[in-house]
Amino acid sequence: MNDLSVLVVEDDASVRNLMTMTLHAHQYRYRTAEDGESAILALTSHSPDVVLLDLGLPDMDGVDIIRRLRTWSDMPVIVISARSDDADKITALDAGADDYLTKPFSVDELLARLRVVQRRLARLLPDNEPVFTNGALEIDYGAAEVRMAGRVIALTPNEYKLLCLFAKNVGRVLTHTYITDRIWGNSLDSDVATLRVFMASLRKKMENEPSQPKLFQTHVGIGYRMNKL
Ligand code: CA
Repeated sequence: MNDLSVLVVEDDASVRNLMTMTLHAHQYRYRTAEDGESAILALTSHSPDVVLLDLGLPDMDGVDIIRRLRTWSDMPVIVISARSDDADKITALDAGADDYLTKPFSVDELLARLRVVQRRLARLLPDNEPVFTNGALEIDYGAAEVRMAGRVIALTPNEYKLLCLFAKNVGRVLTHTYITDRIWGNSLDSDVATLRVFMASLRKKMENEPSQPKLFQTHVGIGYRMNKL
């Protein structure tokens, strides 16, 4: 039995069946909700480990569910939506979604995203882990020291803050606004340009091939993700 419990929020029966069959075949525990009201009820009464959320629900917009959920929980949310515009992705990610899959989605991709969530949750369990590791990357929070394959990397305070934000959210796409809000406390358009400069400098210091980054993935027009190495 898989230890991850999943809430599937989807009004389209055929998509819902595809998801539950997939989850069942891979031994995930799951519940389903067909509209926003029952989704919220399931979230409050069962508190699943992860939510697979459709945005176009009969009684409310999935984005509103994310916003409501975020007032009390950090529970991972993977949006699975037919809305494929960058603007829709950004709205959902800004509201607090962890990831975004566009319909029609591949079952393998869905399973891969669930594994990312699973690894992230597993890492969160021993709380306040003093050293974060991801492949060759180590962040020693106590000493505020960053190492790559044992070599100490000198970062500016802002670069360090940025790296720690990514480390806290490995595998998750962070939008430009999400990042600038947390690093500079606001999100002016000019900050996106500044962020790009910081990212370039982080990559230069941390990637073997800054032109072919492995650690930091760019989502053009949306934001960045720290990959699990
Ligand atoms: Ca729908």
